[in-house]
Amino acid sequence: MKNSSDLHQHYSLLLGLVPPWTVINVDLRMQERLVEIDVQWPSDHEVECPECQRSCKIKDHREERRWRHLDTMQFQTVIKSRVPRSECPDHGVKTISVPWAGPSSRFTLLFERFAIDVMIAAKSIKEAAKLLGLSWDQVHHIQSRAVERGLAHRNLDKIKNVGIDEKSFLKGHKYALLMVDIDGKRILDVVEGRTLESANQLWSRIPEEVRTGVDAVAMDMWDAFITSAKTNAPQANIVHDKFHISKYLNEAVDKVRRAEHRDLMRDGDETLKGAKYLFLKNPANMSDNEKEKFKNLRMNNLKAGRAWSLKEQFSDFWNYSYKASAEKFFKQWYWWATHSRLKPMVDVAKLMKRHLNNILTYLRHQITNAMMEGFNSKIQSIKANARGFRNFANYRIAILFYCGRLNLYPL
Ligand SMILES: [Zn+2]
Repeated sequence: MKNSSDLHQHYSLLLGLVPPWTVINVDLRMQERLVEIDVQWPSDHEVECPECQRSCKIKDHREERRWRHLDTMQFQTVIKSRVPRSECPDHGVKTISVPWAGPSSRFTLLFERFAIDVMIAAKSIKEAAKLLGLSWDQVHHIQSRAVERGLAHRNLDKIKNVGIDEKSFLKGHKYALLMVDIDGKRILDVVEGRTLESANQLWSRIPEEVRTGVDAVAMDMWDAFITSAKTNAPQANIVHDKFHISKYLNEAVDKVRRAEHRDLMRDGDETLKGAKYLFLKNPANMSDNEKEKFKNLRMNNLKAGRAWSLKEQFSDFWNYSYKASAEKFFKQWYWWATHSRLKPMVDVAKLMKRHLNNILTYLRHQITNAMMEGFNSKIQSIKANARGFRNFANYRIAILFYCGRLNLYPL
């Protein structure tokens, strides 16, 4: 740089300052590895009212504020300025907006963008804070603002199919309810608890015109979920989806196997030892060796084998296109299940019968909450670095930040 005015010009360009904003001083502090850029609006220049954009006189200047900017050659870079206040005949005295930062932010727009990218890459606030040289709270604040912005501007026009599901958090001590936009593959919101109240609260997070446009809701066979869907989206079909039904059937098979294994072991019979994974595995994914082992097990006329067959038989249900044929199939299957003398299978068959109408809706809507599994690993990693998630609001912000498909950047 030939002289200081060239240096000021250089920083003006770097910051993208538009006249009459000018850099009036650049303070390079070698010891602190810090660059402070003093930016000023000339006192004799009119300002714009931030409400109505009318040109007004300057009322006065606010006390000096500082904004953290992107580092310059590994020097922390800070913009400081005494921002003028406008005096508008209609809106009174207001602090004018500055082009380098959003209102009430302590960071420049470019820095916020960068911090958001770092958070996305780092997958944890702690790690991002370390990389950015900020405190946990400062990074969390940038994350919250990003989510608020994203929620305020997100497009909810095309939401037709949603899913509602629960997740445990804080090592299973507490529950959260999530709403997913199934076609948009994004989490719409998260609330604490899994009661009827929580479910209603979850629905209230999306605008009424969106709620009443929903065609179908995939969910577990839970009264709280069912009641709140009927109240908040009465036009929508409730779908107890394939994903949840399979979960119940698998759990029932597992119960039968565990009880039988216990009984056999009492007599020193180790037939079912280490067989758990075979009963849970999809036969299509078994190796030849596993297939053989599994076939032999089932040849033994074990209760677990019969339970497993019932579960497998049910999978045909999902292939029906016509309600009447599916109903007929269910009746037959229900008879087998309830006559199996396997209590867990009888219980799950009765539960399904009570909810059959909302299981049959699957044939029309073909939606599932299976994608929730996809979010699980992401949510798991959010939980893993969960400092501050004793506060549920922080947990929600993190989930929406990583799984909400929001536009997180400053506008
Ligand atoms: Zn005004």
